[in-house]
Order: sequence, then structure tokens, then C-alpha cells
Amino acid sequence: MEKRGILLVVSGFSGAGKGTLMKELLHRYDNYALSVSATTRKPREGEVEGREYFFKTREAFEQMIAGDELIEYACYVGNYYGTPRAYVEQQLAGGRDVVLEIEIQGARKVKERFPDTVLLFVSPPDAQELKKRLAHRGTESPEVIESRLARAVEEAEGIEDYDYFVINDDLDTCVEHVHRIVECERSRVSRAKERIYDIREELKVFSK
Ligand code: 5GP
Repeated sequence: MEKRGILLVVSGFSGAGKGTLMKELLHRYDNYALSVSATTRKPREGEVEGREYFFKTREAFEQMIAGDELIEYACYVGNYYGTPRAYVEQQLAGGRDVVLEIEIQGARKVKERFPDTVLLFVSPPDAQELKKRLAHRGTESPEVIESRLARAVEEAEGIEDYDYFVINDDLDTCVEHVHRIVECERSRVSRAKERIYDIREELKVFSK
């Protein structure tokens, strides 16, 4: 039987560079599968249906909630965001490590539901850098940027709920750092129960 993959939740302030980081991680290593979320937010320029998000109306999103089609969902700066269940379960069962790039309320719900999830928080080196990155992205109005920065203040209070805290200063270093974390997690005794059982059984032939 294929070994079950690791569920990795990546959160971080809006503008922390999570998107670029995840793209690079998936580009370098083939053990990862990125979950595509559903949202009621309008597409940004260049975003493609089914690649960045599944863009939904409020009604369609609420139907997904009612049909229990989401592992978790949350409201973020006035819009719904949620993780479709089927893809995640399918990929984990096939042995891929699944990455959810979601905000903090969703991260907490996933951890509650699946306690062996790895929660990783990505931060820019400092607050000024965060503001600069958000402004340079040029896709949001000044009001939305302000709401996102205000949200960052709240999110910073929840970082202790995470397992790992990673600074995204240099992209290359950060990608390697995240990958090493996942590789180390794979060696946890709690994830290797079947292998441990097997080796114990095999060793029994040597017992006197
Ligand atoms: P953005 O609008 O910048 O694409 O995303 C806003 C926030 O929503 C980000 O922090 C992003 O990680 C989070 N997000 C994206 N998809 C999901 C999801 O499926 N569930 C939750 N809880 N948050 C999500």
C-alpha cells in the first residue's frame, strides 16, 4: 500500500510571498500537490479559474458548505475561502504531500480535524517589507491594502498555534528550508507506525 502523504498548511500575512514560495516548492520537488481553494473573491488580473482559485458566487459557495464539500472554510476581509475536500483526500491517499495555502482560522480548523497536519507560518523579515510588498503587487486598492495590514496585526497574535515559523527573505533559502521541514516530519515515529511494526515482525526470527 502507498504511504499516506503529509498535509502541510502554509499561512502568512497577505504579501508575505507564500504564493511564490509554494510555486517554487512545487516546481522543484514532485512529492507535493497544491490544493486549489474555492472563493467568492473576484479574480485578480491574470488569475485563471481552476488554477489560482475556483471562483464562486456566494450562493454556490454556500451550497458547497451545505453539501459538506469543504474540509474547512473561513471569511477573510469580506469574502469566503474554502478547501475542497475530494482533491485533498485523493492526493493524500495516493501518497502525495498536500499543501493548503490558507489563513489562520482555516489552519486551526484543519489541525483540529486532522491533528497530524503540519502548520507552517511564513513571515516577511519585517513589517515595513510587508507593506512594501503589498503596495508593489499593485493589484489591490489602498483600502484593501489597509484592511489586509490590519488583518496581519490580528494574525500575528495566532502564530503560536503553528508548528513552524519561517522567514521569507531569500526565496531560494526559504524553499529549501520548507522542504527540509517536510522531510523531517516524514521521519516522525508517529508517522512510521507501519514500518516500525514490520521491522519488529521481521526481527522476531532472531529472538531466542
Ligand atoms: P488572497 O485573496 O490574497 O488570494 O487570499 C487571502 C487569504 O485567504 C490568504 O491568507 C490565503 O492564504 C487565504 N486562503 C486562500 N484559500 C483559502 C482557503 O481555502 N481557506 C482559508 N481558510 N483561507 C484561504
